[in-house]
Amino acid sequence: MSDMPRQITLEEWDQRYEQLQKAGLHQPSYGGPLSRHVGDGDKRLLKLRYDNSAAALRLWNFLLTEEDRLHEARNKGKRLVGTMKDLGTVPVMAYSFDNLAAFYPDGAWWIPCMMELDAGLLEIADSLGIDESFCPVRAMLGAFVTGAHFPIPELLTCSVGATCDDFSAIAQRLNGLGYPILWWEVPHRRSGEPGETTVKLPGGFSAPKCQVEFVKSELERLKTALEELAGQHLDEEKLSAGIKKANQVRTYLAEIRQLAFTAELCPMPALEMLIAEMLAIHFCSDQDETIEVLRELLGEIKTRVQAGKGVLGADAARIFWVNPVADLQVMNLLEDCGGRICGTEYLFSHALDTIPEDLRPVEALAQMVLADPMVGSSADRAERICADVRRFGAEAVLISRIPGASHCALEGEVISEIVQTELDIPVLEIEVPPVTDSMRPTLRTRAEALVETIKARRKR
Ligand code: SF4
Repeated sequence: MSDMPRQITLEEWDQRYEQLQKAGLHQPSYGGPLSRHVGDGDKRLLKLRYDNSAAALRLWNFLLTEEDRLHEARNKGKRLVGTMKDLGTVPVMAYSFDNLAAFYPDGAWWIPCMMELDAGLLEIADSLGIDESFCPVRAMLGAFVTGAHFPIPELLTCSVGATCDDFSAIAQRLNGLGYPILWWEVPHRRSGEPGETTVKLPGGFSAPKCQVEFVKSELERLKTALEELAGQHLDEEKLSAGIKKANQVRTYLAEIRQLAFTAELCPMPALEMLIAEMLAIHFCSDQDETIEVLRELLGEIKTRVQAGKGVLGADAARIFWVNPVADLQVMNLLEDCGGRICGTEYLFSHALDTIPEDLRPVEALAQMVLADPMVGSSADRAERICADVRRFGAEAVLISRIPGASHCALEGEVISEIVQTELDIPVLEIEVPPVTDSMRPTLRTRAEALVETIKARRKR
């Protein structure tokens, strides 16, 4: 059996799975061949290419069994919290209780892609007046109406204020449909005025102290609601322990990202890296297992780097990717065109930063909320992107626009201008809908042109 790292199809994974099993593969309870998930309607899986490691198998199986895990949690008496929009902070609080499980209904974003539009979620959103002028997160409405993709949570929370118009409108529509929401406010992050005390936030931004105080009061309100739901008090000791656990996830991800984005040969494909990063947001509904999945993935990456093995050629063009793609297949496409990912900003960089452990826990979480690149200006976000491009040595930036997303109308231009002025590297903007089949040749041509430009610049 060859253990050379490479990307394989779903069909090839079936054979590889048998080989691994014969070789004594140890699997968690949610393990099994990847192709079985196609039976759940996830047809897009047939068109993706996957890393061939046992660590990647575990990662994919973990991702694709989340719905079962949520039902199981409920059957075992846990209460479910649907945390919407803040991306990464409220789940840290929820998982500090031993009888709550939190998830982002926003994750329905990817259902139209995974089911190649068969689930009809976008049509349901259309019928509710939320048409394609909104971002694909509108699929969440359809998922609530059908009840077919996740159990309806006992408590729904949603951050508002410095939130995109899309999410505000969609969540309000959801509320109007009879799903009560606990709204909490995040102010737009601003610079301090002369004489005003400011706080340096994790990740590098800063905000006036009064904004941190305000978010703290909002998080206290959330904490009370979670305590009522759980029937337990969340004291500082328990919340600090929850923060430590979340930091374990973030520490593994920091190591994984550093190695994957800077190794001479790319040790892990873009698609698996995207999924791994997403685990930071709500731990795919099982925080302990997330830690184990990432530990194994990190082990695989370290082994490959030490052995000088990778999945792509040594001359792959080093590209920094901005925004998550609605169609996962595009991550494969970039690599087919000769690119590799060296840095990402998938709208939740703050969920990858270490939460301060030397502050009172609610204060630390309030800082994380304000460190969100999406609650400040596009210029702030561009500065963070520039810093990470330098850190990972990327040679170009690719901004994948999200169709209908209100922030995408102008931010690409702002980011592009700042990146080109500060770093003098090429920037490409593309738009990626949930299923890209009809525009694949165009996307390919544009990605190939970017790769060629990068390689031509190396000869200058
Ligand atoms: S518009 Fe952007 S930030 Fe808002 S929900 Fe859609 S993807 Fe998320």
